[in-house]
Amino acid sequence: MAARILDGKSLAAQVRAGVKQKVARLAQRGIRPGLAVMLAGDDPASKVYVRNKVRACEETGVASSLHEFPASVSQSELVETVHKLNADAAVHGILVQLPLPRHIDASRVLETVSPLKDVDGFHAANLGALLAGEPRLVPCTPAGVMRLLEHAGVRLAGRSAVVIGRSNIVGKPLSLLLLQKDATVTICHSKTADLASIARQADILVAAIGRAKLVGAAMVKPGACVVDVGVNRLADGSLAGDVDFEAVKNTASWITPVPGGVGPMTIAMLLENCLSAAQR
Ligand code: NAP
Repeated sequence: MAARILDGKSLAAQVRAGVKQKVARLAQRGIRPGLAVMLAGDDPASKVYVRNKVRACEETGVASSLHEFPASVSQSELVETVHKLNADAAVHGILVQLPLPRHIDASRVLETVSPLKDVDGFHAANLGALLAGEPRLVPCTPAGVMRLLEHAGVRLAGRSAVVIGRSNIVGKPLSLLLLQKDATVTICHSKTADLASIARQADILVAAIGRAKLVGAAMVKPGACVVDVGVNRLADGSLAGDVDFEAVKNTASWITPVPGGVGPMTIAMLLENCLSAAQR
């Protein structure tokens, strides 16, 4: 039987509608959530991501401001801007679009963001809170994956979850969130031996790798829930996930499409984080 689709596009629209309502309620108290986005350099993908985030803000009534810098921007200029935004009462969330130009120490810039305004959830204080099991502002992509699973009613407690990818922005925080929901979590990466046999044990298999169609049917246990975080541009210009959707869709019980799965949820969770930063 073909897998059911974890429809991120439709769930994200519901989340955005909820944010819009809450933003309207906050407006009655004279509060308007504000997001400041910092973009340095000319990376085309980053420009698209930023444009989509700003558009989502406009649609839900969140105020947004875009702070653009040339690729030659200095570290001190970025840090100084973060300090100014930290001090600006109209700004509740600060997002530093990654990647930053090579000469910039990204972690230094991210650590300058006030943890209370860190709507990407990348600050060590927020990652530490997540590790301690007391999440505050949670990274958006992992939060979006969890919301998709919750919405579909995928049972996590006592089940085996395998996360392929150990980045600080996706794989590690997502593993912690799954652990918090009592899944038994295995984290895999590029040095993992016999990835396929580990992946095949998973009741919930998450691919956050950045390698088009790496996960084929032979890596998926029949009936598993498969979440594809990957976004890869193919030679013909089309997008593909880390999962070979066509090959896996008849093995899995649930699967996310790319596009239309995790991607829209990431932006929806960003809006929720802005809202909660404004409400604190
Ligand atoms: P990343 O920082 O490059 O991390 C990739 C991870 O995959 C690393 O842990 C790496 O292992 C592992 N890996 C690479 N090749 C592998 C292989 N052959 N076998 C097993 N593991 C392998 O990437 P990321 O930022 O986490 O992003 C992952 C993917 O998700 C990308 O396609 C990205 O575009 C996408 N993404 C999507 C969204 C969204 O909103 N949809 C958001 C963020 C990211 P090592 O640690 O050993 O190098």
